[in-house]
Amino acid sequence: MKLKFLLHITFSFISIHIYSQSEVLLKASNSIKIDELKEKMYKYASDEFEGKDTPSKGQELAVAYLANHYKKLNIPPVKNNSYFQPVPLQFESKPEISLNISEKDFMYYDDYISYKNGPDKIYKDEDILYVGYGIEDDKYSDYKDIDVKGKVVVVSGGEPKNNNNEYFINGNEKSKWSNIRQEINLKSKTAKTKGALALIIVDEYLHRRYSYRYKYSDSGKGGKRMELGNEESNNFQVLLFSEKHKDFLSENNLRFNMNFKKDVQTFSADNVASIIRGSEFPDEYVILTAHLDHVGIQNGEIYNGADDNGSGTVAMLEIAEAFALAMEQGYSLKRSIVFLHVTAEERGLLGSEYYADYDPLVPINSTIANLNMDMMGRADPNRGIKNLNYVYVIGSDILSDDLHKINLDANENFANLELDFRYNDINDPNQFYYRSDHYHFVKNDIPSIFYFSGVHEDYHKPTDTAEKILYEPYKRRVKLIFHTAWELANRNTRIKLK
Ligand SMILES: [Zn+2]
Repeated sequence: MKLKFLLHITFSFISIHIYSQSEVLLKASNSIKIDELKEKMYKYASDEFEGKDTPSKGQELAVAYLANHYKKLNIPPVKNNSYFQPVPLQFESKPEISLNISEKDFMYYDDYISYKNGPDKIYKDEDILYVGYGIEDDKYSDYKDIDVKGKVVVVSGGEPKNNNNEYFINGNEKSKWSNIRQEINLKSKTAKTKGALALIIVDEYLHRRYSYRYKYSDSGKGGKRMELGNEESNNFQVLLFSEKHKDFLSENNLRFNMNFKKDVQTFSADNVASIIRGSEFPDEYVILTAHLDHVGIQNGEIYNGADDNGSGTVAMLEIAEAFALAMEQGYSLKRSIVFLHVTAEERGLLGSEYYADYDPLVPINSTIANLNMDMMGRADPNRGIKNLNYVYVIGSDILSDDLHKINLDANENFANLELDFRYNDINDPNQFYYRSDHYHFVKNDIPSIFYFSGVHEDYHKPTDTAEKILYEPYKRRVKLIFHTAWELANRNTRIKLK
């Protein structure tokens, strides 16, 4: 026993001092192998997990598999000795609702919808106040000298322009204040913080978009809508109104009467989170994310979701393994690194929203960067360039030049991919910068990269299967992310925001 102990000490002593950082790094990097990626992919995209719908037995098995992976690697949970972060969720149907404003009745769907639930409540003769665009920004505010406490706030969609026909906030470009879901969230958060009773957003596009969707899902055809089910995200009423009522709603002295009772079924599903603690700056965190869910079984067919998002999930498992190998050799990271698998992405980025907005397991303002992996194992048939060794890089330079540079260097030194930045534009019509889980980090000014290989013919089809992954380019992408994460965690200074 004692001898063994002594030998062990000697051995660890030697191993710490024999391997230089670059050797440890190289060894860890070389542990990312095609056969290991394949093995994990065939498991994660197998029928056993039944397409990992939220919620489902298959997804429960999948999260158990993920947690077990970290346990085997001796990478501990972030909090409470559990790898699981339960995310409160709910299915929503059309609420019981009737609305009358100053003797005028309004029709659900045609005139307005309840976009977000407030408490079940009878509103009686409440004051209505028109507050322009409902924006509060450094460069422009509608709330100056206005007290909206206890009032129903009415705002217009979009954002205003100045006399030169430029937007107040971003000049020639629209800002986050007119970006669909983000717009609604920002405007409602602002009104709620100001003490408003409820918010009405008047916007033709938003009303049409969501009344169509809600009507469809309420009819039972499209499957029920899913939203976060925690109290805090269900305590402020947001209505979307058709623009045909704009003039009426901007009149003075209107009275708001509404009966509201929501119709929801609550449940929960799990995020999975683990952490390697840093030694020098343990309170600075690099967070890797990949959504663990997919769309389940439809018409009797299992949607295995190998690319979406077995590819991001397995990439993270393999990266965690590479880090664990380096730790085993006595290496320690300067910063902490969090491995976060999120649920309910396919239902509206809900697992990551819950994490970022309601229960960050490590402080958001000490989270220095996010690397998000979603659909990164295939090739985009419409890219128009033959080289398969590429990856779309989205967001790297939007919030931080350092992050951009680190990713470029990691690629040059270790991955040798063609980095394709065509979607790296917040105004790109595909809106990829807002369409996966990194969104909930970038909205908090956390620099983020979304690694992505593009949409293809098997996207959200039962044919998105493990044998269709292109393992050589996929391996290089995994390496790129590993080395970028390594550098983020190990450099002397925290990356800077622009
Ligand atoms: Zn996805």
